[in-house]
Amino acid sequence: MTKWVYSFGGGKAEGRADMKNLLGGKGANLAEMSNLGIPVPPGFTISTEVCTYYYANGETYPQTLKDEVMAALSQVEEDIGLKFGSTADPLLVSVRSGARASMPGMMDTILNLGLNDKSVEGLAKRSNDARFAYDSYRRFIQMYSNVVLGVDHHNFEEILDEVKEDKGVSLDTDLDAADLKKVVAKYKDKVAEQLGKPFPQDVHEQLWGAVGAVFGSWMNQRAITYRRLHDIPAEWGTAVNVQSMVFGNMGSDCSTGVCFTRNPSTGENEFYGEFLVNAQGEDVVAGIRTPQQLTLAGKNAQSSDLPAMEECMPEVFKELNAIRHKLEAHYKDMQDMEFTVQQNRLWMLQTRTGKRTTKAALKIAVDMAREGLITRKDAIKRIDPASLDQLLHPTLDPKAPRKILGRGLPASPGAASGKVVFSAEEAEDWVNNRKEKVILVRIETSPEDIGGMHVSEGILTTRGGMTSHAAVVARGMGTPCVAGAGEIRVDYAAKTIKVAGQVVKEGDIITLDGSTGEVFIGAVATIQPELTGDFGTLMEWVDTIRTLKVRANAETPLDAATARKFGAEGIGLCRTEHMFFDPKRIIAMREMILAETEKGRRAALAKLLPFQRQDFIELFEIMQGLPVTIRLLDPPLHEFLPNSEAEIAEVAKEAGVEPAVVKARNTALHENNPMLGHRGCRLGITYPEIYEMQARAIFEAAVHVSRETGRTVVPEIMIPLVGAKKELDLMKACIDKEAEAVFAEQKYSVKYMVGTMIELPRAALLAGEIAKTGEFFSFGTNDLTQTTFGMSRDDSGPFLEVYRAKGIYEHDPFASLDQAGVGELIRIAAERGRATRAGLKLGICGEHGGDPASIHFCQGAGLDYVSCSPYRVPIARLAAAQAALGGSSSSGTA
Ligand code: ADP
Ligand code: MG
Ligand code: MG
Repeated sequence: MTKWVYSFGGGKAEGRADMKNLLGGKGANLAEMSNLGIPVPPGFTISTEVCTYYYANGETYPQTLKDEVMAALSQVEEDIGLKFGSTADPLLVSVRSGARASMPGMMDTILNLGLNDKSVEGLAKRSNDARFAYDSYRRFIQMYSNVVLGVDHHNFEEILDEVKEDKGVSLDTDLDAADLKKVVAKYKDKVAEQLGKPFPQDVHEQLWGAVGAVFGSWMNQRAITYRRLHDIPAEWGTAVNVQSMVFGNMGSDCSTGVCFTRNPSTGENEFYGEFLVNAQGEDVVAGIRTPQQLTLAGKNAQSSDLPAMEECMPEVFKELNAIRHKLEAHYKDMQDMEFTVQQNRLWMLQTRTGKRTTKAALKIAVDMAREGLITRKDAIKRIDPASLDQLLHPTLDPKAPRKILGRGLPASPGAASGKVVFSAEEAEDWVNNRKEKVILVRIETSPEDIGGMHVSEGILTTRGGMTSHAAVVARGMGTPCVAGAGEIRVDYAAKTIKVAGQVVKEGDIITLDGSTGEVFIGAVATIQPELTGDFGTLMEWVDTIRTLKVRANAETPLDAATARKFGAEGIGLCRTEHMFFDPKRIIAMREMILAETEKGRRAALAKLLPFQRQDFIELFEIMQGLPVTIRLLDPPLHEFLPNSEAEIAEVAKEAGVEPAVVKARNTALHENNPMLGHRGCRLGITYPEIYEMQARAIFEAAVHVSRETGRTVVPEIMIPLVGAKKELDLMKACIDKEAEAVFAEQKYSVKYMVGTMIELPRAALLAGEIAKTGEFFSFGTNDLTQTTFGMSRDDSGPFLEVYRAKGIYEHDPFASLDQAGVGELIRIAAERGRATRAGLKLGICGEHGGDPASIHFCQGAGLDYVSCSPYRVPIARLAAAQAALGGSSSSGTA
């Protein structure tokens, strides 16, 4: 018989941390903490299998669930000597969701469940605090009615405001027990009016209603959106945790808070956290009051006037700090914890692996490895390669002029500029429909804002602390965020921001520096990132582990220099056509394309030769002896054709012909399906003089640089779009002939290789043949994906969305390599190619070269290197190391 319910509390538990799949993250860690002897209010977890069962069986529960829940509940009652539904000594519980992967704020927790008109009196007596009892009851009615019964919050807020107004006070805390009793009566009337039936007084009905609501919330829009954004399968389900309540709102010796074992923003090994005295549950996260710091250091760093816990609750602080060390040593990772203090007694309510900025992740991983808490390999495995992207983006140029608008907390690092919008919906509209870059400005954010937060360049809030919703979510997304900028006034109605006489309107540009908390008017210049500090250290470790080489796709000197700076070990793809778009060159290029005779083409090519040679000289110099793979001209010629009358006239003049001649040639070159047309080596086959010129430019440059610097220069000349060995034979012969000629003229020779792109299925299948001539292969997976799927990358967006929604293809095959189809062709080509030519050098170029999951595949397929855009080189280096260490890729693909 399946066990559906697992108890925890009182120094023992039926679950464990490694049972996350079954108990959810929250439940598994509550169990683990109990087992560690850490004070956790007793409770039980209803497993994720019940959620799965619930949805598989028309939203019903397994037969034995009820008995198991009742037994676990009795156990809790026994542990703490209170009774659920008792009028004298009522046990109150929280009902909390908890999925396998943490989904912060995605699902709704209900607190104080078990209160009704009778038990509230019991609570009042037992606590000797009627105000507290009625405050708990009115919170419960509001939460329960909202989450379970679907009554909107504003109904309750209006009532609360009315009562305060009648009394002539402005703070909730100004209301006494009698006032709150009135609030409760009005709340219940409101619920009855809205639903046509009274607020449930039966505590068991309350409990099952709440359990059902947690399971129901698994399929709410917020949760679905979050799962979509984070690739969490719907099948995982959520667990439900039912836990006895502890109260942080019973007076000034009570509090509630959130803390991290290390600083989640910088990674510094310092205790970091915030708390509120006399508060409950979500009050800290919701940013309703300004929280106090745990430590004196934190208080000083934030120049806060409020006392730190270290000062005002020193005993509790000591205990909390000891738990911090215990949990971190146990989990061997930075923890994010929730706690409540009831009458000076500390209770832990949650621990989980803390979210952190990438900068903090690197520091924590490197520090923990140095502290001996984890190994270097663990440190390498800890970092999500894709997250490095955050550090590879620009930061504010310290020298750039700027005009400060205001300051808040440095909630999520990085610099971002954009146009101000005031709601999540507007953010999505402006970004998706108007193609604008926006900064989302809110007083505070809530889970409904997720979509808008995701598309924004940066997020600015005027309320809330470092653990407010905006801060936590922004850090997770790697979006720069300034939170709690209290001096900034946001007026939603007028759509303005005001600070000390300065006004910023919707659509105006502002810049955020999430690393300092500063907000600037207008756009501020940025500077490029560097691989230094912990990032540099981790990258050194990575290089001792990985076996795949990492090259970059680069053709300009700037790209090549960036690639080297980020540790590229060569150029894997230099696209020569990109060198012809320069205004000075495009005319000669057009002249060449439009020439009707070989003589005409040669005349134009002669003009291009010096440019091309100079390009290669620069590349070879920058790459200092590292391999450079140069792809000869590849794209359909029409990409270079003149469009406007003026362009046509210019080309005509340069070529000494009438514009009409150019136009006619233009028309003649039109293709219906240019991607499958006259391109790639087909150009070299029909016009060998083009490849001859390019080969000459390469050899002259290689000889020049090798002679000048004394370094070996090894050009790897790559022929695109080969489908038959004969194509490669012809092109190689033409290149060899040019090499011989240049080496004889220069009386100097260099080594070189001639290889091919594998980007047609035919080439992959005939790789054994092609390898007889080709000295290396580079998998051009952009085209190989297009040609394998028979699907154009540029046209597939709209229907691929539908395909993914219908689960036909799980991932965009242009972003992450299709391992089943395209991958199979790569495996075949690798095997057949190497059967012909032992040790044949194999690489991959194209978008996939920078995708961690694809890199894992490349490791498995025995490739020698991956090549990606210069900014992704560190990502690829890390992913390659992780692939060498085995295990699954963090951005995994099917
Ligand atoms: P989330 O997943 O959104 O963090 P939680 O289930 O952790 O939701 O609960 C929300 C808030 O309620 C947290 O601040 C938590 O500390 C508080 N809370 C949950 N259960 C209890 C409890 N048994 N006693 C006191 N506070 C609780
Ligand atoms: Mg929580
Ligand atoms: Mg291609």
